[in-house]
Amino acid sequence: MTDSPGYDAIVIGAGAAGLLASLRAASLGAEVLLLDDAAGDSSNLAASSGLFSAAGTRTQAAAGITDSAALWAADIARKTEGAFDPAMVRIVTTRAADAAHFLADTIGLTLHVATIPVPGHSAARLHATAGESGREMAALLMAAAQAMPGLTVLKGVEATGLLTEHGAVMGVQTGSTGYRARWTLLACGGFAGNDAMIARYMPEMVGAHNIGLGRNDGRALAWGEALGGALLFMEGYQGQGHVTVDGLGRLGPGLTSLGAIVVNARGERFADESMGPSEFGAFVLAQPGGWAVEVFDEAMHQSAMSMGPYRETVARGCVVKAVDAAALAAAFGLPETALSATLAAYHDAGPQDPFGRAPRRPVLPPYRAAKITGGMAHTQGGLRVDDGARVLRADGTVVAGLLAAGGAAAGVSGRGAAGYIPGNGLGQAFALGLAAGETIAAQG
Ligand SMILES: Cc1cc2nc3c(=O)[nH]c(=O)nc-3n(C[C@H](O)[C@H](O)[C@H](O)COP(=O)(O)OP(=O)(O)OC[C@H]3O[C@@H](n4cnc5c(N)ncnc54)[C@H](O)[C@@H]3O)c2cc1C
Repeated sequence: MTDSPGYDAIVIGAGAAGLLASLRAASLGAEVLLLDDAAGDSSNLAASSGLFSAAGTRTQAAAGITDSAALWAADIARKTEGAFDPAMVRIVTTRAADAAHFLADTIGLTLHVATIPVPGHSAARLHATAGESGREMAALLMAAAQAMPGLTVLKGVEATGLLTEHGAVMGVQTGSTGYRARWTLLACGGFAGNDAMIARYMPEMVGAHNIGLGRNDGRALAWGEALGGALLFMEGYQGQGHVTVDGLGRLGPGLTSLGAIVVNARGERFADESMGPSEFGAFVLAQPGGWAVEVFDEAMHQSAMSMGPYRETVARGCVVKAVDAAALAAAFGLPETALSATLAAYHDAGPQDPFGRAPRRPVLPPYRAAKITGGMAHTQGGLRVDDGARVLRADGTVVAGLLAAGGAAAGVSGRGAAGYIPGNGLGQAFALGLAAGETIAAQG
């Protein structure tokens, strides 16, 4: 093994958490080595919609939005039905706003608050760059990382293990090379790509299409656990109910909030479509053939074009135009009589919606529609950390030298799919990434 010169920190993974942490640490004067097994453009950050939750930001205030960490924490408590770790929720809900301010003030990103509502948040708190695209956000952060003094980016380098001495982490092994550092940050994602772990913790998602990028094989969690790190909320995950059937993208979280309905192969609705996209995934997978058709109209289409993943789906030709119900039925092989009856019943139901959907605007022809399925996006369970992103054992002691953030760390999404609120994956990754960066710089 060839040992490298020492760094203040080695960060494994140039995705959401790793980029934020590296930028924060280096901006405070630390020497950081950031490793990514790919080119940094195939992270879940890049796959995402680039919408991150943060509460009490200047961006919100400028838009006249009243919000606070306490309000966000209450939303999390409600959505997870009480299955949350108060300390984790406090860290995430308080530090995400600091991360937003760091991105704006130090990195120079122009952020806005997305206007399309998503279920679960009681205030508009999804922040994004202009294109509302994870690909755009990842490119901007990678460019900033490559220009940041004190930060070295190594692409195409896979972390294969941790260097340890007497239970303390001393750095990272990458094949035959070891890199030493005071701190090692696990920022290499969760375990959505590990079939055995999916079967153990979320068997309902066995066989579901994994729409995440990156390795996500759970190795960060295994390394942390082997050193005594505690794992929390391993059953939590972000599902996705609006995945295009080519598996290459999705419609995004906003269309059903705008009013879209979803029908199955029989031309029938099957659920309250305005539920969160995470829990909606299992409903779609349970339909005949595991697919459905999301039906909306021109005005909804125009509004949704603000979202990067939707624009990409349109560009791939997955969104069909249909002048009326007959054309819609023909486009997807749906029974026309049943589909027409479903559309008419939806219009007429009002507050008596059979699935309990709140009154909403009608879906009017000409229609737009896409064939969708359910998928697995990102796991939400992981290593327990403190407010400096230090990995904790069950007894509250720290694993020396080891930090975790993003998918490697526990999230704030409870158990199962229903506790996830859109934006909370990146919200956690940015909040803990910021905290990790400050820990590195403070002790560098
Ligand atoms: C389709 C999709 C849409 C999403 N949309 C949103 C959204 O709009 N809002 C939101 O809040 N959350 C969203 N999420 C979740 C969000 O993307 C994740 O919560 C977040 O990216 C996790 O950050 P991370 O840094 O842990 O992982 P990532 O961003 O995935 O970064 C991990 C990086 O580590 C690298 N890596 C992995 N293993 C190794 C190794 N051994 N050595 C070196 N490098 C390694 C990977 O290549 C990757 O670049 C979405 C997820 C998916 C899959």
